[in-house]
Amino acid sequence: MKRNVLIIVIVTAVALGLLWAWSSGVFAGAYESENAATPVFYALKPTFTPAADMVTAEQLAALSAAETADAQVKANALTASGDVIVIPDARDDQADQAVSEVPPLLAGGTRQSVPVAGAGEHLVAIDAGHGGIDEGTYPYNPNGTLTYNETQINLKIALRLRDILVANNIRVFLTRDGDYAINPNWLDINGDGINDLGDESQARLDLINASGAELLLALHQNARTYGDGSMNPEYNGSTTYYCADRPFSDLSYRFAELVHSEVLGGLASIGYDSFDQGVIEDLNIDEFEPRRHLIVLGPQSDRIARPSQMPAALDEPLFATHREESILLSRPDVLEALAQAYARAIIRYFNEVDAR
Ligand SMILES: [Zn+2]
Repeated sequence: MKRNVLIIVIVTAVALGLLWAWSSGVFAGAYESENAATPVFYALKPTFTPAADMVTAEQLAALSAAETADAQVKANALTASGDVIVIPDARDDQADQAVSEVPPLLAGGTRQSVPVAGAGEHLVAIDAGHGGIDEGTYPYNPNGTLTYNETQINLKIALRLRDILVANNIRVFLTRDGDYAINPNWLDINGDGINDLGDESQARLDLINASGAELLLALHQNARTYGDGSMNPEYNGSTTYYCADRPFSDLSYRFAELVHSEVLGGLASIGYDSFDQGVIEDLNIDEFEPRRHLIVLGPQSDRIARPSQMPAALDEPLFATHREESILLSRPDVLEALAQAYARAIIRYFNEVDAR
């Protein structure tokens, strides 16, 4: 009998310990650990905290053309609080996805730049991750029906973000404005002797550096798989990456902080309290791979012939492979909230730089 009591006590103690660890977020740290093959994350805070300056769809629809023009004039005098003028979204999703005006290939084999949009003192580069044959990650899909892929989501957000920023007198360089690759023939652009997607990243960096952009934001959606390659529908959260190994890393970190906090706020404004995975060094992006810098963020290396020349962040707001977040990414209001969040972060960053 004593033995049975002892077993019950031990089992109870272990259960309480696990409950404590789970509730206090011990498991959350598994993201950065070396042995977390199948960590499980849940956002446990379903609170609703709308951003004070969020413009609702109804407010947008109510804006007359004159009011819209007036709003754009007001944008000339942005305050240090980072007020963002949000214009109505006049874009057509179908047109956005069309590939009728793919920039021509230049003699070197990569595409001609998309023209810089807008007018104003500051210039930001937006890289909508993936494109062309590289479709990025896919949503979790219990029915086996593919409703979108990452390249489309990133592009939709980038096009909307461009329009909002232009309305706020910030010039925007997009690495791509349609569903195409910059280096479609997989030429060895970075000179490492390998023809791979690293060359696509280098081709984009070359365009970004040539544009003279002062700031770079790379847009992605996250993905998680199990060891056997199948999708992990339980892994979720918002992550922003920066590189700590650049001359301007302090600015990159600050920009990443702004992006991260605005994205969390933007998602909260549509009712989703995203799990905060934090602002993370790019070297920690994948615990299963050797520690390597992200090509768009990192310093010169065998894979990065000509690194980015400006403060930068790469954002992964949601997991396309997660059960709930994959659905969020199919919602226009979620993409709108993300585009507005990025606009706020970029405008706040430029305001801070100007105030120095
Ligand atoms: Zn991606």
